[in-house]
Amino acid sequence: LDGAYDPGNIFAKILRGEAPCARVFEDEHAFAFMDVFPQSRGHILVIPKHSDARNLLEEDPARLAPLILAVQRVARAVRAALSPDGLVVTQFNGAPAGQTVYHLHFHIIPRWEGTPLGR
Ligand code: 5GP
Repeated sequence: LDGAYDPGNIFAKILRGEAPCARVFEDEHAFAFMDVFPQSRGHILVIPKHSDARNLLEEDPARLAPLILAVQRVARAVRAALSPDGLVVTQFNGAPAGQTVYHLHFHIIPRWEGTPLGR
């Protein structure tokens, strides 16, 4: 959970426009785009735009509220667009927890009854 933020991480590159993404939402504070290896149809990532927090524990508390508001806004848009039966919002901190990209991000993963993860 310790370490320095690497400005060369893939999400930082996406934010700088140096790597492509399928953007679905953006406001002053947050940026959302399709996960390139979706765990379900409509799997979206929401990230802070002006942050060098690698994970939730490092984030400035003052930046959290607008970020969570964006997560809710995107989740509601996913509900409206895809009518999932459920919706996972999750977030990993540290490699042992499953984190692979070290720019704070929330997963929004729509779920449908009877559909295994990975579909
Ligand atoms: P983590 O395990 O760190 O919470 O999840 C990182 C997520 O980022 C994974 O779901 C992975 O599929 C996604 N991801 C990794 N590289 C890229 C990329 O270059 N573009 C996009 N759109 N998603 C990525």
